[in-house]
Amino acid sequence: QINAEIIAVGTELLLGQIANTNAQWISQELSTYGVNVFYHGVVGDNLKRVADTFSQAKDRSDLVIVTGGLGPTEDDLTREAFQLVSKLDIMEHRPSLNKIEAYFQKQGMEMTPNNRKQSHVFTNANVLENKVGMAPGMIVSQQKQNWVFLPGVPKEMKQMMKDDVIPFIQEITENESIIESMVMRFIGIGEAKLEDEIIDIIQSQVNPTIAPLAQADGVVIRLTAKADSINTASNLLQDTKRKILERVGSHFVGINEETIDRKIISLLKEKGKTIAAAESLTGGKFTENLISVKGASTVCSGGIVCYNTNVKTDVLGVSAKTIAEEGTVSEACAIEMANKVRNLLNTNIGISFTGIAGPEPIENKPVGLVYIALCDENTQFVVEKCNFHGSREAIRRKAVLKGFELLLN
Ligand code: ATP
Ligand code: MG
Repeated sequence: QINAEIIAVGTELLLGQIANTNAQWISQELSTYGVNVFYHGVVGDNLKRVADTFSQAKDRSDLVIVTGGLGPTEDDLTREAFQLVSKLDIMEHRPSLNKIEAYFQKQGMEMTPNNRKQSHVFTNANVLENKVGMAPGMIVSQQKQNWVFLPGVPKEMKQMMKDDVIPFIQEITENESIIESMVMRFIGIGEAKLEDEIIDIIQSQVNPTIAPLAQADGVVIRLTAKADSINTASNLLQDTKRKILERVGSHFVGINEETIDRKIISLLKEKGKTIAAAESLTGGKFTENLISVKGASTVCSGGIVCYNTNVKTDVLGVSAKTIAEEGTVSEACAIEMANKVRNLLNTNIGISFTGIAGPEPIENKPVGLVYIALCDENTQFVVEKCNFHGSREAIRRKAVLKGFELLLN
């Protein structure tokens, strides 16, 4: 995205003798080419003040369009002022000088030295022919910044805009060819809810584009930025990421390759904690997921798949009393499972999954009812009671994800 600034030079504008219709016209043109105009400036014919105005523009705009002050008189100071700011050399532009000389010859007038000044251009400038007047315009590119110098006379200015400047702008907008994208990963929030939370951000901006998408392990938002440099593109991405995190940061997992299982492994590694799982309905899926991450061995000790009740009691050591009184799908059973597996495998954290994946209800409890318990070395418990919907597969997958989500917080 190009941020432009328009500077009109001329004391008569400040005095109110003429209105700055040049800026109005140029702004309207630029808007049709998707260029943002962030500043309009008017400055009188004073070298220091014009130079100051230019250096301000230099710090904040990608494209600066200057009109006026290119003429032959003492108070036409645009070149001199830009030379102070840019340190560029000025030279005589032969074709323009020829044209000026021919004009004076034809009129039978004597050409004064200051008329030569109108043919002065910056050495590296792209010189724009003035088809309806004397002084040529210029496009000067410096450190990714483009400066356009146009005569103040509206007719001359418009002609050059149409012939040279607009095509140039189209070219640089097309050159916004670097595309950078970022995937932001979320858990514990649905696609629709996520979109709802950030809908105004999605609708109010085009660069980067923001696309939410549901995936097996949560929801992702893909951000795609277009710019003329990697730096600009990644700044755009970072800005939007920040805005999104202000809204839904509590569900954020990580970016790009940082999937929830990898995130959990690195979180536990950071904290120096180990984990073991007691899995009933998930049948080892949780442990399988963790172990699929490279470097999981320092974190994940293993797990026990305790699908049948007798494995819960005989292998894990869940009390028969708990199961008789509360059932296997219960908070009490989940807590015991987590605690026992933590003790048996000698880890810092124990996690358990017990529930009904379906299709048939058990213990008079509905399909989709799942308890997940977390237990740490201080035997502090977190128990999550969930009611999942969907197929047997979906319920088992959601249970594993919920387990990860609990570990994230
Ligand atoms: P010239 O070569 O004709 O002297 P210049 O580039 O030096 O052109 P100025 O002397 O600043 O430009 O302006 C020439 C005339 O153009 C002004 O008298 C005015 O009528 C018109 N003009 C200049 N700037 C603007 C503007 N921003 N909006 C509308 N008209 C303008
Ligand atoms: Mg003038």
